[in-house]
Amino acid sequence: MYLILMGPPGAGKGTQADNIERKYWIPHISTGDMFRTAIRFGTELGLQAKVFLDAGHLVPDELTIGIVRARLAERDCAKGFLLDGFPRNVVQAQALEDILAAWNKKMDAVINIEVPDEVLVPRLSGRRTCSQCGATYHLLFNPPRQDCCCDLCSGALEQRIDDREETVAERLDDYGAQTRPLAEYYAQRGLLRTINGDQSLDKVFEDIVASLR
Ligand code: ADP
Ligand code: ADP
Ligand code: ZN
Repeated sequence: MYLILMGPPGAGKGTQADNIERKYWIPHISTGDMFRTAIRFGTELGLQAKVFLDAGHLVPDELTIGIVRARLAERDCAKGFLLDGFPRNVVQAQALEDILAAWNKKMDAVINIEVPDEVLVPRLSGRRTCSQCGATYHLLFNPPRQDCCCDLCSGALEQRIDDREETVAERLDDYGAQTRPLAEYYAQRGLLRTINGDQSLDKVFEDIVASLR
């Protein structure tokens, strides 16, 4: 199964991607996580990407498409994958089509999680991420057992720099201008499954599973 998960920052993509990965046994590929890992390890990619992430802007297409192409060529992607946070504009969507066409493959579905902007802001300001394993929590809506640390690995929880209010506005603007139009692009291809993301975590997952049947 070849899936894309799209939705604005804070829609619940990462949270639901973990559920989908466990149910369908396909690798969860998050370009945001790939960039954050590269930044943490100080690699060349990380150095190039950091200014864009910190400012809440998209990393240039060339760089982003390059890392996705390399990742999708890995063996664990042969029978399926779940892309989270890619593609984010039409150039990336066309590049993905070309990559898959070269392997005689096509996307199966695009899950579009919709959430109104006024719900996104408190989701992002309360989001906390494990500095060790990347697990995501919310101080109110999905709290860890202890405010300080990760339930899974006891790593310290931190707030992403780009989840501060100043940067969130930039990210929502970029989403509206560049990524939201992709919904129409995929609707025309008959792939779009729109999900109401303004519901409990469990209900959102239930709706995703139903949309894939
Ligand atoms: P969120 O889950 O909040 O939507 P992500 O973790 O997907 O955010 O992305 C964080 C940041 O990583 C983005 O603001 C952007 O700087 C960069 N990024 C992630 N995916 C892409 C992409 N497909 N194209 C360009 N930049 C990206
Ligand atoms: P994205 O990857 O789309 O940016 P996340 O999955 O990281 O979004 O979710 C953003 C924040 O909102 C996290 O703190 C997460 O725990 C919380 N969250 C996710 N889904 C829901 C939901 N259905 N209701 C309330 N909070 C949610
Ligand atoms: Zn952890």
